[in-house]
Amino acid sequence: MSDYDTVSADVEHEEEIPEDHPRYQDLLTRHRIEAGVEKGITHLQGMHAEGRGSAFDYLLGEETIPSADEAERTAAAHLLLADHPVLSINGNVAALVPGEMVELAAATGADLEVNLFNRTPERIEAIADHLREHGADEVKGREADAHIPNLDHERSKVDADGIYEADVVLVPLEDGDRAEALDEMGKTEIVIDLNPLSRSPRVADVPIVDNIIRAVPNMTEHARELVDTNEAELEAIVANFDRDRALEDAEDRIRSGDL
Ligand code: ATP
Repeated sequence: MSDYDTVSADVEHEEEIPEDHPRYQDLLTRHRIEAGVEKGITHLQGMHAEGRGSAFDYLLGEETIPSADEAERTAAAHLLLADHPVLSINGNVAALVPGEMVELAAATGADLEVNLFNRTPERIEAIADHLREHGADEVKGREADAHIPNLDHERSKVDADGIYEADVVLVPLEDGDRAEALDEMGKTEIVIDLNPLSRSPRVADVPIVDNIIRAVPNMTEHARELVDTNEAELEAIVANFDRDRALEDAEDRIRSGDL
């Protein structure tokens, strides 16, 4: 059974995509973004972001490469060690992996916070509702009562008891400016992005160069395996991770991998 079989999205016409189609994963992903736009949870710009991601995924061979798996395990260790981990949700994340983010939050004790580049109260509500339909209890992001320093006003809004005070944040598909600003706040930052040359993974403590639809369920699996591991061992996993090598491995695969 593929990762996709376990994905719990509610996209119209998804069943019309034949599973043996050679670009099944890519088509399914595109359909989910389209459905997200129709449902008012994804901004139209999310389509362009998806297009860029899809090109990099093609070059990666549309699989989780070993260094990405190691990054996903390290990310799970960070989330389990954290005092206050927060998973940030934007429109593309909500369209692609709503139930999977809820499961990762449950497996690691993290909060979910809606955090949008193109912020409107309607879209925040729509995404919070969508997450609740996929099993979330509490969804942060509506208070917006704190600001990330060094960002313009709208882009800097976060919840004071959420991303603002978090020690470890997972920011998938994050904009480069905000990833840099969060890094400057001294947070441990985990980024999922298919482009290893993009600014966001380059400022991350843990860059995960993988498709979010494969990365998130795999992080949850690692978290469930590691949940009873003692702190010293989790810290050893974190200490042994080499972020530069992970970025180099991904770039190498993209430039010279066999397709
Ligand atoms: P930056 O502002 O970080 O320098 P950018 O302007 O290219 O880069 P954005 O448009 O802000 O990036 O975000 C799109 C990013 O999300 C791209 O780097 C793309 O590779 C990545 N992306 C898109 N879809 C996925 C996906 N399904 N899984 C992982 N990454 C993805």
